[in-house]
Amino acid sequence: MAKVVVIGAGVGGATVAALLAKAGHDVTVLEAHVYPGGCAGTFYHQRYRFDAGATLAGGFHPGGPHDVVGRLLGIEWKVRSVNPAWQVLLPDRSVTQFGDRERWHDEIARAFADRPQRDRIVRFFRATERVSDAVWDFASRKPAWPPASLADLLRTAGALRPQTLVALPHLFETMGGWARRSGLSDRTALTFLDAQLLISAQTTSDYASALFGAAASDLPRKGVTHPEGGIGGISEQLVEAVRRFGGQVLFRQEVTRLDVRDGRVVAAHTNKGARFECDVCIANLTPWDLARLLGEFTPPKLQREVRMRAEQWGAFTLYLGVEDDATAGDERVDHYQVIGSYDRPLGEGNSIFMSFSERGDLRRAPAGHRALTISTHTRVAEWWRLRETPGAKAAYDERVAEYSERMLELAERAVPGLRSRIRLQLPGTPVTFNFYTRRYRGGVGGFPFTSLFAARGPWTGLRNAWLVGDSIFPGQSTAGVTMGAMRVADEVLRSYPLVAGRAYSVAAK
Ligand SMILES: Cc1cc2nc3c(=O)[nH]c(=O)nc-3n(C[C@H](O)[C@H](O)[C@H](O)COP(=O)(O)OP(=O)(O)OC[C@H]3O[C@@H](n4cnc5c(N)ncnc54)[C@H](O)[C@@H]3O)c2cc1C
Repeated sequence: MAKVVVIGAGVGGATVAALLAKAGHDVTVLEAHVYPGGCAGTFYHQRYRFDAGATLAGGFHPGGPHDVVGRLLGIEWKVRSVNPAWQVLLPDRSVTQFGDRERWHDEIARAFADRPQRDRIVRFFRATERVSDAVWDFASRKPAWPPASLADLLRTAGALRPQTLVALPHLFETMGGWARRSGLSDRTALTFLDAQLLISAQTTSDYASALFGAAASDLPRKGVTHPEGGIGGISEQLVEAVRRFGGQVLFRQEVTRLDVRDGRVVAAHTNKGARFECDVCIANLTPWDLARLLGEFTPPKLQREVRMRAEQWGAFTLYLGVEDDATAGDERVDHYQVIGSYDRPLGEGNSIFMSFSERGDLRRAPAGHRALTISTHTRVAEWWRLRETPGAKAAYDERVAEYSERMLELAERAVPGLRSRIRLQLPGTPVTFNFYTRRYRGGVGGFPFTSLFAARGPWTGLRNAWLVGDSIFPGQSTAGVTMGAMRVADEVLRSYPLVAGRAYSVAAK
């Protein structure tokens, strides 16, 4: 039995911890905060329970990563399906992301009906669905991507099937390249595509890998869900599983330093003065945060990476407690994506994602009220410049007010009259995210998914330490980090023999 220390109880950390505890390893999860989930956590404030970042989760469909993990761990996920998934409000039209394909095809034809390009748009989205099916099917056989060894390469090759062939022509192209090659030039459809990709691949169509983009933009058809009581329910159920299999999850234990001997992490120190020895260390962290904990022991390749890599996107968020008005907005829809203008880049308040707690859900808000999370992508640098410049507090506060205003203006388009019903308003900047999730400069969402060949694996440069979470392939989302966690669990289990009588594999059944 190996002593495993997992730093962080985000969805990635909690998943790998539960899988290894089930295998019979001695697992301790050290979580800095008082609840699990990190960016996919739910926090309580003045009678409202707000989703901190993520609000919708894919991957619970049969064979999807959460479904596979749930079956392995005996978890009955408390999630309910959300259909329509969300409604996209472009400056001049709406597109509803219906979960069933037939309705979706009718919807794209309706939404883009006034364009001569309509047939091309419909054909393009249908083609992305065929590729999406091939990619999800391939992913369900758990390819070890990116490969760190010949064995990984063979495992990846073993996941190929004849039906994967449909994806191969798109291996090296971007979603934008594919769209243009298919004759799409209409900016309405391209902005729609960009907006879907920004929230799923962290980049727009000119840069997003076509394969990943196809799988991500088809997510509503694979099925999205919302956990009961808030998105934090996913990691809460995982924490229960860790404990059920004999592991421990300790809150308010921030790891501040790692001891390294002979290229191996041997212990983790926490802010409570505790020291946890380990045979295996799994860091649910960004590469920058792992390097900070390793200090002088940071392997040269990791040092180089944290010097050279561009920062991740940040998020600006508004958490609103609002009085409900059943007549405002579309009563079928709890989630909206609103785009302000075709002429400005997305993000920085020109595109927002809004998620209401379910009407009447008393676990999330008092009777007659709802908890609402609104977010937009933002670059972190300016927030930190203002935060760290002496005397710039007023400018920082002004920026918060300006972003809040921009977002409320867009939110009013989805739900007219919203502003007058706000009873509580809390803003969150990358500085706030850094404080609550400890992520480097509050960067969130992992790295943009530009190419399969630029994917980052779980390596750390240390023999017994792995990264898990949205900084590793396949990147952001609760489903994405779950896939990464399964891979890391597999790698640990190959390096540390199984406990007799508890034969285990994270392979999909
Ligand atoms: C605004 C926003 C909206 C999003 N929307 C969606 C969505 O709708 N659907 C979706 O699927 N995904 C969404 N995402 C992405 C998704 O939330 C993340 O990709 C995913 O939750 C990241 O999980 P992770 O495993 O990387 O852990 P993280 O969320 O990064 O959590 C890491 C955990 O480690 C802890 N920790 C950090 N440092 C230490 C330390 N030194 N010691 C101890 N503990 C430590 C933190 O407290 C935290 O609990 C969104 C993200 C954001 C920010």
